[in-house]
Amino acid sequence: MDNSPYNLTMSKILVTGGAGFIGSHIAETFIKAGHTVGILDNLSTGKKPNIPADAEFFETDITDKDALDRVFGEFKPEVVDHHAAQISVNRSVREPYFDAEQNILGTINLLETSSRQGVRRFMFASTGGALYGDAPVIPSPEDTPVVPLAPYGIAKASVEHYIRFFSSEHSMEAVVFRYANVYGPRQDPNGEAGVVAIFTHRALSGEGFVVYGNGEQTRDFIFVRDIAEANLLGVDGKPGIYNIGTSIETSIKSLIREFERLRPGLQITQSEARPGEVLRSALDAGKAARDLGWKPKMSLSEGITETYNWFKDRTK
Ligand code: NAD
Repeated sequence: MDNSPYNLTMSKILVTGGAGFIGSHIAETFIKAGHTVGILDNLSTGKKPNIPADAEFFETDITDKDALDRVFGEFKPEVVDHHAAQISVNRSVREPYFDAEQNILGTINLLETSSRQGVRRFMFASTGGALYGDAPVIPSPEDTPVVPLAPYGIAKASVEHYIRFFSSEHSMEAVVFRYANVYGPRQDPNGEAGVVAIFTHRALSGEGFVVYGNGEQTRDFIFVRDIAEANLLGVDGKPGIYNIGTSIETSIKSLIREFERLRPGLQITQSEARPGEVLRSALDAGKAARDLGWKPKMSLSEGITETYNWFKDRTK
């Protein structure tokens, strides 16, 4: 019985990075909708407990060609949803070779295997913020000039080009999602990418918040289940490149106010502005609304509350 609210064809979907923060939520959403899910992850930052019980798990590295062939031969995915990556911008600056090996060469490996094995659709987790930088128009649409500063963004931009090539050369449908700042349960508070996870951790431990610069810098915070919903619509929706964000700019100062609501009285320390930090960022997701019927559902207040309570339950 199809008990999903979506009129979808059920697919066999391989989620790479499915033991990680975003990938595990996507895997859960796919399973709930009735898809059959395989997870491919090397557990470098991902964790086994994140893997949904109904998913088949392959502990595999995307840079290992033979292993990929074995997984694809066994699972036979119709759709590949690629979220495995080294996600640290700082590490990409320190170790550009390692970043390119994981994020460019690993993805080419996956694209080659996918096209050889007749995968119908390839979906990819790209980024808005790291591609657009200090954009001329905010919220920024998809045709904003791509000017990545760090190897992490350079790799995402490069992979978008490879995907376009594989898609036309091998008639593989392609969906690219450029995410805003994703937050929610399971995000690693030790990772540099997640200011919400860091603030949640610091609020719960009573350490208070560190603000770099004047706190007026803005980001577009999007809840992880809204991201999962976009991926669900992307399985059968119109191929293309889509920004996925709320289109709303939230300053670091107002983000702190959300936490003060949950845990009042914490100290705020001001630190020097970080050189090269993007000052304003928000993504125009109008195209995803028009072509995929996607809209974010979670408000920032509700999303922060759910995230805070999730982490709180785990620190008891
Ligand atoms: P994450 O670190 O939780 O997930 C990445 C997963 O990939 C982990 O489970 C890790 O073990 C796995 N992985 C890493 N290298 C691998 C390899 N060589 N082979 C197999 N598996 C490997 O990070 P996340 O925040 O969930 O990010 C998921 C994707 O979304 C990444 O591609 C990231 O670049 C992208 N993204 C994230 C954000 C954000 O705000 N978190 C924004 C834009 C794009």
